[in-house]
Amino acid sequence: MNEKEIQQLNLRGHLKVIVGFFIFMVLSIAVFFLCVQKRVEQEVESTIHKNVTHQTFHFQSIMDIQFEYLKSIADYLGEQEELLAENNMELIRHLQEKSGLERVAIIDEQGKSHYDNGATKNVANRVYFQEAMKGSRTLSDPLESKVDSYTRVILGVPIYKEDKIIGVLGGSYNVGALSHMMFEDIYDGAGACIIATSQGKIVSFDGNPEYWSLENDEKVIEMFRDFEITDNHIVKQMQEDFVRHREGSIKLSSRDSSYYVAYEPLDINEWMICYMVSGDKAMEDYSFVTKYEYVLSCVLGMGILLSILLLFYKSNRQQKRLFEYAQTDALTGLYNKQRTEVEIEAWFSKEECQHFQAFLMLDIDHFKAINDIYGHVAGDEALRQVGKLLKEEFWSSDVIGRIGGDEFVVFMKNLREKETAASHAKNFGEQIRRLKVKGMEEQIITCSIGIAYAPEHGNGYHSLYKCADSALYEKKGRDRDGYCIYQSDAQ
Ligand code: GH3
Ligand code: MG
Repeated sequence: MNEKEIQQLNLRGHLKVIVGFFIFMVLSIAVFFLCVQKRVEQEVESTIHKNVTHQTFHFQSIMDIQFEYLKSIADYLGEQEELLAENNMELIRHLQEKSGLERVAIIDEQGKSHYDNGATKNVANRVYFQEAMKGSRTLSDPLESKVDSYTRVILGVPIYKEDKIIGVLGGSYNVGALSHMMFEDIYDGAGACIIATSQGKIVSFDGNPEYWSLENDEKVIEMFRDFEITDNHIVKQMQEDFVRHREGSIKLSSRDSSYYVAYEPLDINEWMICYMVSGDKAMEDYSFVTKYEYVLSCVLGMGILLSILLLFYKSNRQQKRLFEYAQTDALTGLYNKQRTEVEIEAWFSKEECQHFQAFLMLDIDHFKAINDIYGHVAGDEALRQVGKLLKEEFWSSDVIGRIGGDEFVVFMKNLREKETAASHAKNFGEQIRRLKVKGMEEQIITCSIGIAYAPEHGNGYHSLYKCADSALYEKKGRDRDGYCIYQSDAQ
């Protein structure tokens, strides 16, 4: 298996881990974002719910103030001798002008209503009148005026003379005006507030027409008819809550819009108060969360990408090191036998291979004896020193390897003259003699070298090895400590 194949195998292994890690990260981020989204939605629902509670309180406070105001006038009216005396009528005219009440009337015991504008009408059958005559403060259901088509509610308080009820003081409000007076929108007018009966009939509506369109006599539920298909059960639940006077909050979503709705009982005439706002508007305050989510996704994405690149880079480098390590002689750091062979064979197939190549085979003389005298540790050090010396003596482009115990090969490339190899061999022989190895400083080390040339003696590792080995053998047999160039029988 070559370096490339090992790298591909490695890459496949890494890819599995990376894909697994990536899926895990994406799922984790998705779960995290979902949790954040859920939390934000809860916050929005809570805000809207608080708002509707606040509006209820506000509405009730205003009603209390209005009733107290009417009661104080009713008390004054009761103290006068004649209920319908001119100064009483003058007072209610004045009251109508100065207060937010549209119409003010004194209703006598028989149910005849005397209005501030001089008109009279029989309201004996009206519930608000009957209830007020029993001593309660009353608020009528919304009444639609045939005259101006405005919807009004009538507030009624009993008029006492001493402990006896002698009539009712009534004041009518235009409901629309009532709602404007009440609601301050927390969403810059994008929200809408509705007061509706338990059947969902809208009593009062306050909302910017830019965002909300309301048809005549519409019911609250009908405003959400577009959502009925997707959120039918939610709409039904809201309807039931209205009938049973239960508070609640819901979120309605269609394909391109959503609404948050919160409602609660108003404790007046079994009315419900309901506040609603579009999802986009409600989420505006939390848009920074989405921005941070994008930033977080980008940072994490870049982090993952960088980690993957770094992982590849590191693993590749380590792989290279391991590969080199497997092809290197551990003692000297030179190429091992296999790598020496591969490098030399590869060189012959390259275009740069020109002129002469020299194959030098070196073997230390009497190394067995050196080992025996000084021991293997010193022997190893000697081999290390010889390896170092070879690197110094020969060019960095040459192939230098240790192919056996005390056997080395130097392959010199592209020599213009064959003699260069011989002169290097001679020089190396002199250098090795001067080598001082720790633990055997007095020992002179020599070596024998066999030299073969390409193309003369062969064009590959094995043929050159054979010839160089033969020359080496000859030198060893003759005298050692020097070099011998291979001579074929034909030469
Ligand atoms: P010659 O001059 O004929 O080469 O004699 P020699 O004693 O060197 O004989 P040869 O080259 O055949 O023997 C090589 C010796 O090198 C054999 C072994 O004891 C020694 N040797 C081989 N590998 C190592 C090694 O890694 N460390 C050490 N210290 N010695 C080794
Ligand atoms: Mg030897």
